[in-house]
Amino acid sequence: MSSPKTNFIGINISGTQARAALVDVEGTLIRTKVGEVTAKELVPQLAAMVEELRRDQGSVGAIGVAIPGLVNRQTDRVIAPRDLPSTMLGDLHGDLTRATGLRVELENDANGAAYGEFKVGAGRGARNLFYMTIGNGIGGAIILDGKLWTGASGFAGEVGHITIDTDGLECVCGNTGCLETVASAPSIVRRARERLNRDNTSSLSRLALNKSFTADDVAHQANEGDDFALMMIERTGKYIGTGVASVINLLNIERIVLGGGVMDAGSLILNPIIHEVKRRAFQPCFEATEIVAAKLGLDGAPIGAALLARDAATD
Ligand SMILES: [Zn+2]
Repeated sequence: MSSPKTNFIGINISGTQARAALVDVEGTLIRTKVGEVTAKELVPQLAAMVEELRRDQGSVGAIGVAIPGLVNRQTDRVIAPRDLPSTMLGDLHGDLTRATGLRVELENDANGAAYGEFKVGAGRGARNLFYMTIGNGIGGAIILDGKLWTGASGFAGEVGHITIDTDGLECVCGNTGCLETVASAPSIVRRARERLNRDNTSSLSRLALNKSFTADDVAHQANEGDDFALMMIERTGKYIGTGVASVINLLNIERIVLGGGVMDAGSLILNPIIHEVKRRAFQPCFEATEIVAAKLGLDGAPIGAALLARDAATD
C-alpha cells in the first residue's frame, strides 16, 4: 500500500526520446523530464531519469512505462512490433525493476495516454471513453466503467487497423485500406503529394513550393488559409470521422477523446470529424457521445502510465 504522500513516475518511450513525468497520488503533474535514449543503453538511461525525478521528491510507489508496442500481461513482455530494440523486446520489465528497485508496469502507449486523459484530462468525469491517437500511426484505447479494457489478449482498441477502403493500400499490419493508411501523418503527406503531382490547379498551393513538407506543414498552411491544405485536412477529418462513427455504433460510448499530432490542426480537423460522424453514426448513438480533443498533449502518456502503475500497485 502507498501512503498519501507517495508519488508515481510514468515514462513514455517514443523513438529515441523518453518523456518522464512525476505525479502525486492524485495525478497532479509535479515535474517532467525529457531525455534521449538509445536502444543499447535503454535501461540505465531510464533508471537515471527515474533517479533524477525521485531526488528530493519523497517516496515513489511505482513506475509505469508506456511503449509503442503491445504488452503481454501474463509475461510482462513486449511482443510487437518485432522491430523494436532488443532491450525493449527482452526483459525490460525485469531489467528496469532490478535497476530501480521499484515496482514497474509496462503498458501500450495509447492505453497510457487514454488513461491520462481519462483521469486528469479531456476524459475527466466520463465513465466510458474511447481514446484515439492520430500521429505517425493511429492507435486507440477503450475505457469501460472506469477501467481500461484491453481485450482477450491485450490488444483491444486498434482502431487504426479497421478497414476504411477495401481496395486501399497495403498497411504495415498486412491488411489493406486500414484507417492508418489514409489518416496518419505520413499518409496525409503521401495523399497531398499525389494530388499535387496530378493536379495543376493545386500546384498553386504553398505546399507545392516546399518539396519536403510534413503533416504539420499541411495543418499550418490550412490555418493560414491555403485552400488545398485545408481540403487535405478536411478529407483527413472525413476518414477519421468514418472510423469514429464505427466506434460509436459499436460501443455507444459516452466520450471520444482525440489526440496525437494530427489533432494539432484544432477545429480545422475536429469539425469535419464531427460532421462525418453525425452523417454516418446511428443517430441515438451520436447524440449520446461527446467528441473532444485531448488536453494533455505529450504529457498524457507518461501521466497515464504513472496512474496505471499507481492503480496496479493499490489494487
Ligand atoms: Zn493496418
